[in-house]
Amino acid sequence: ETRPGNNFLYSLIADDLAKGRVQQVVTRFPPEPNGYLHVGHAKSICLNFGLAESFGGRCNLRFDDTNPEKESQEFIESIKEDVRWLGYQWAGEARFASSYFGQLYEWACELVREGAAYVCDLDAQQAREYRGTLTEPGRNSPFRDRSVAENLDLLARMKDGEFDEGSRVLRAKIDMASPNMNLRDPILYRIRKVPHHQTGEEWVIYPTYDFAHGQEDAIEGVTHSICTLEFEDHRPLYDWLLAHLPVPGRPRQYEFGRLNLNYTVTSKRKLRQLVDDAVVEGWDDPRMPTIAGMRRRGFTPASIRCFCDMIGVTRSDGVVDVAMLEHAIRDDLNENAPRGMCVLNPLRLVLTNVPADHREQLVAPRHPSREELGNRELTFTRELVIDADDFREEANKKYKRLVLGKRVRLRNAYVIEAHDVVKDATGKIIEVQARIIPDTVGEDPADGIKPKGVIQWVSVATGKRATVRLYNRLFNHEAPDRGDNAFMDFLNPESLQVVEDAWIEAALAEAVPEQGFQFEREGYFVADRYQHTPERPVFNRTIGLRDTSGA
Ligand code: ATP
Ligand code: MG
Ligand code: MG
Repeated sequence: ETRPGNNFLYSLIADDLAKGRVQQVVTRFPPEPNGYLHVGHAKSICLNFGLAESFGGRCNLRFDDTNPEKESQEFIESIKEDVRWLGYQWAGEARFASSYFGQLYEWACELVREGAAYVCDLDAQQAREYRGTLTEPGRNSPFRDRSVAENLDLLARMKDGEFDEGSRVLRAKIDMASPNMNLRDPILYRIRKVPHHQTGEEWVIYPTYDFAHGQEDAIEGVTHSICTLEFEDHRPLYDWLLAHLPVPGRPRQYEFGRLNLNYTVTSKRKLRQLVDDAVVEGWDDPRMPTIAGMRRRGFTPASIRCFCDMIGVTRSDGVVDVAMLEHAIRDDLNENAPRGMCVLNPLRLVLTNVPADHREQLVAPRHPSREELGNRELTFTRELVIDADDFREEANKKYKRLVLGKRVRLRNAYVIEAHDVVKDATGKIIEVQARIIPDTVGEDPADGIKPKGVIQWVSVATGKRATVRLYNRLFNHEAPDRGDNAFMDFLNPESLQVVEDAWIEAALAEAVPEQGFQFEREGYFVADRYQHTPERPVFNRTIGLRDTSGA
């Protein structure tokens, strides 16, 4: 089970409940619908929904839709789908920051009436100069002492669309000398004349994250507002606003360390660039660290939840080895995925002592240790394919596959001995000829000469052709995310290799989309969510059989 268990937030909430500071735990997951969710969001989802679940509370899904330019309905739908797929259900209907715009505007007026906010006409450049630096206090805006009446009038006219974008903002009146830059009269509202996916043309002023977030938490009765560490410095502002407004609740903000993964970028802006520049085929390309991409790659919800559990929750930012994520899915599939045989690089194998019309039904377990998963049928025939890498004319003892004059076991079937090869005009081997050793299904050869190894095979008569996509890491640099745009220089040119003419055993063609398998000796594969059909099978490699990263 993958509950958040013993992290500091769990302890803190347990304490709040024990001391009666809260009666019911309410958390929220607040994505901005400006992209697809990624593995970092999965950490936040597992944490927020997991904590609420652990304490019998509830978790809201709230779209933080205060920046209409980059947001869309497509992203809203994908986020809902991804949260559900991970196995969580939000309390009631999904909520929208935009549905609180009316209330937030009233509260902005309230701050103005109290003399705690003002309309400022400095442009962005001037505002930056007035703001000061970490070592130098800022200076008061020349508009800071406007009367309440003038501020109310200007704010109303901002709302009515009288002014141009960027010409005015509403700011809180706090302290231009505060060592915390977030308290140097932060912006509460800005003018943006763009239609909004939820509110249409209704608003031309939009609240900032800082003005919206805490108030929304209060409206929703959120008790523990959990966010990443970069918001730690915003907490005094979060508290200041709650203290100055007649809000119906008193949420508290807590921070945790965001997830960073090596060999991976986890920033929606950068992921968007990969999509826009067509480096990948979309947000759900199996190489993307998006939840939709991981899903298409063959990750299971359980494996992602298990990963989030393994990495834990702390108050420091670190980099997690992507091998841990790979480990989580490999473990899950090793335990649960049925086995099948696939030949990626086919070489014809003719069994010269098997008649052309021979059809022998063999049975093989679907899973080596899970009897309850039952058996599958394999048809054994004269003509098979094996992987070209599994045959050599000559080899030393370390090569545990088929060699001319030597024996190998065909997985789940007979021991065979190779006796001839057929080559084309260029000298390339196009066919191997071998004899089966009778009575060796599940038995050693009677003559005591044991096979050197085991290889997979598919019957040419009954096997199916498939497209198999071999995915590797999208980046070949450990820290592609470092720096601003360098990540585009670290793309792995071999992140995708498409095998058009693989052979799969017949039963695999009947896979349902998103069903995962171990292709014996090859790795873990999933039937593509969108493109796989029994007539035209398409599989994606989720992960290899073992960690080959060298770590
Ligand atoms: P990005 O930088 O990728 O755009 P974001 O934080 O702006 O991420 P939001 O949609 O605002 O994206 O995030 C929703 C929630 O997910 C926030 O509470 C945020 O803290 C959390 N979150 C985002 N990225 C991570 C991460 N890498 N690790 C943990 N939590 C994250
Ligand atoms: Mg955000
Ligand atoms: Mg962002």
